[in-house]
Amino acid sequence: MDGASVEKASRSPHGQASIRVSCEFFPPKTEDMERLLWESIQRLRPLRPYFVSVTYGAGGSTRERTHATVKRLLNETDLVPAAHLTCVAATREEVDDVIRGYVAAGVRHIVALRGDPVDGLGERYRPHPNGYSNAADLTAGIKRIAPIEVSVAAYPEKHPESASFAADIDMLKAKIDAGATRAITQFFFDNELYFRYLDRVRARGIDIPVVPGILPVQNFNQTRTFAERCGASIPNWLADRFAGLDDDAATRKLIAAAVAAEQVLDLVDRGVRDFHFYTMNRADLVYAICHLLGLRPVAAREAA
Ligand code: FAD
Repeated sequence: MDGASVEKASRSPHGQASIRVSCEFFPPKTEDMERLLWESIQRLRPLRPYFVSVTYGAGGSTRERTHATVKRLLNETDLVPAAHLTCVAATREEVDDVIRGYVAAGVRHIVALRGDPVDGLGERYRPHPNGYSNAADLTAGIKRIAPIEVSVAAYPEKHPESASFAADIDMLKAKIDAGATRAITQFFFDNELYFRYLDRVRARGIDIPVVPGILPVQNFNQTRTFAERCGASIPNWLADRFAGLDDDAATRKLIAAAVAAEQVLDLVDRGVRDFHFYTMNRADLVYAICHLLGLRPVAAREAA
């Protein structure tokens, strides 16, 4: 094994077959955030995530920073990047230029998203008159430009704009028909929501991987705000666990690790093997959970 002194466990602590993880990062705005991001990437890199994805800010606001982060991942690491892309407030030509730029830089995996309404969540989404209308349309556009991998979003609690679960899953089906081969879910804390959603998805004849998105609770108040914005629910038991700890960061971190461990180990026990971590650009909790999942550091391969 290429000189590695340690090995990636091929079995989970529960004695089951290989676990794969992917990690999501956002492009940094400041030098301090840039330092934190790259420290986190370096910490998680030896665990050999299956891929690492980089988000795309609302309305293309991070276009250059997303591109720069993805390019640095390609040039300076042996990680496989997936670049997020939205179609909000942009013409097809503009979006196609970004796709071509990614492909020219060596990107072979895009996470295709519609994005949120420019006027803010809760407002009606209006596609750009000359733009891609939704993530299915964008997926088809990417596939027309290059035969690369496309992942898309999925919503265990349905997307807040979807009239029903059926409409929501119809959209997922449209994204797959357009060429997507993996769905990554919005975060959730109640695993029953994921399994009920999976039943609905499979009943619709969808058989691609629907990878659970796991959000380790780095900051409970921020998590609650995110959840309100994206229509994910926060169970009372989760709020109870963090109650009274506003001034106790050390205990909050232990609770966060326990909550995430409980969630992922239950998913593993119920057959899940792929996980997508919303890292919030912080490595510690994700590293600990990956360790619990049986992942062990592997020595770096020479970057190409
Ligand atoms: P779509 O799949 O196009 O649509 C979402 C829902 O809206 C559908 O389920 C459907 O019911 C309804 N809908 C859409 N079009 C129509 C239509 N024509 N008729 C009827 N109903 C329709 N956002 C960012 O800005 N940047 C990111 O990097 C980013 N990364 C994400 C990664 C993941 C894994 C997830 C889960 C979300 C991410 N988001 C990101 C958030 C995402 O952009 C929002 O949730 C957005 O509101 C919907 O995007 P989508 O790709 O799911 O949209």
